[in-house]
Amino acid sequence: MLEKRNFYINGQWVTPIDGTDHHVIDPSTEEPTAIISLGGQADADAAVAAAKAAFPAWMNTPVAERIALVEKLVQVYEARTEDMAQAISVEMGAPIDMARSQQVGAGTWHLRNFIKAAKAFEFSRPLNDSAPNDRIIYEAVGVAALITPWNWPMNQVTLKVGAAAIAGCTMVLKPSEESPLNAMVFAEMVDEAGFPPGVFNLVNGDGAGVGSALSAHPDVDMVSFTGSSRAGRLISKSAAETLKRVHLELGGKGANVIFDDADEKAVKRGVLHMMNNTGQSCNAPSRMLVQRSKYDAAVEEAAAVAGQVTVGPASEEGRHIGPVVNEVQWNKIQDLIQKGIDEGARLVAGGTGRPEGFNKGFYVRPTVFADVNNQMTIAREEIFGPVLSIIPFDTEEDAVEIANDTPYGLTNYVQTQDSARLNRMAQKLRSGMVEMNGTSRAAGSPFGGMKQSGNGREGGIWGIEDFLEVKAVSGWSAE
Ligand code: NAD
Repeated sequence: MLEKRNFYINGQWVTPIDGTDHHVIDPSTEEPTAIISLGGQADADAAVAAAKAAFPAWMNTPVAERIALVEKLVQVYEARTEDMAQAISVEMGAPIDMARSQQVGAGTWHLRNFIKAAKAFEFSRPLNDSAPNDRIIYEAVGVAALITPWNWPMNQVTLKVGAAAIAGCTMVLKPSEESPLNAMVFAEMVDEAGFPPGVFNLVNGDGAGVGSALSAHPDVDMVSFTGSSRAGRLISKSAAETLKRVHLELGGKGANVIFDDADEKAVKRGVLHMMNNTGQSCNAPSRMLVQRSKYDAAVEEAAAVAGQVTVGPASEEGRHIGPVVNEVQWNKIQDLIQKGIDEGARLVAGGTGRPEGFNKGFYVRPTVFADVNNQMTIAREEIFGPVLSIIPFDTEEDAVEIANDTPYGLTNYVQTQDSARLNRMAQKLRSGMVEMNGTSRAAGSPFGGMKQSGNGREGGIWGIEDFLEVKAVSGWSAE
């Protein structure tokens, strides 16, 4: 079994001070695949001290040099994509082809977008034309703690590390204890790219240990967190004592509003989007709202599409979906499917238990519920599995009301051929992102949510700005 106990601190792989062994489980087989170490307070302290010591020099390194190092990192990353794909696939269950294309591909995509955005950004500029001696300087926040989840692990790591590095922050990354191996491959890449010691540090650990040690740490200036609303609340509380900046990317319960004039692929696209990554995406379109005149046909089609989604081990090539990440998630999803049945939703595909042919592995049946109302548990809670809820609606106003009636506000989706309606819906939906007719957001677009989906924006220039302070200087000498 792979033994990866060490942490990356101050440019070196070091033995943990406070470590306890932890097995990384392969969700396809339920067998341990690696041993890592969960660190403690002393390990968090050592990493923060390294980041703090490296901060003054890194902050004062010209931004062009910081960008050049991130460019080098992209080269190294591209040379090791297969190592990265294998690590992600085995530890969180993404089928290997999907891991190669989507999971690994997200990393280079974000790093490249940061490079482009940073090259066009003025880190120091006059306030405006009538105040030439007033200067606005964008300056690094300081030491950043980066706490990431397992579901899109490299997506999250690169969104945080790329932006922090370009902004001039030094950092301590604590990846999810469910998916630490990909982050350790990433640390090897940072090392190979030649970042100065202390700029990037990695400590493995769980939330209660290293996670809370970092969020409470007096020498950490900011926490950038992606994960559950539950952990987001705990982090905010433990960060409050030192009044550090906290950016949160949390869960979602996206509505996919399908009007009766939607294109003919809208339903299929919505179901497949829901099932992608085995439903483990914060921006999953988990509530499909269908206009009444198209409702019966949409339910029938959704059930048929879900029935054709195949499930299989992560190591197998092909377009199937893999298992969910672990036993806790599997049990939670089973309970929620049962709740859907008990609360009166109509099960039209899937259901509880493992898919046929599996007696081991955290596999879930691709599931669709019809006749859901927005007060049912399956419409309110983030399930984080391949489970779609279909809700009928009558008018545009009803659709907006149902879509917005959720504590979350991450991504909503709209399907209609009516261009005036598209724009009206975009303005009325309370979410950080609205995606129309299957059009993906372009390179450099900001990712993040409103309400209980969080408060930061990641990606592109907005992602870099999250790691910057704005300094206003008067009496600047133009020389
Ligand atoms: P999680 O909150 O359990 O864990 C996420 C990370 O936080 C892990 O590294 C974990 O160790 C750490 N953590 C847990 N408790 C902590 C604490 N008290 N203090 C400090 N750190 C703590 O979430 P998860 O199960 O790994 O990920 C799934 C969740 O992430 C879902 O709710 C999903 O919607 C959300 N997510 C959001 C986005 C987004 O951008 N909005 C993206 C991906 C995932």
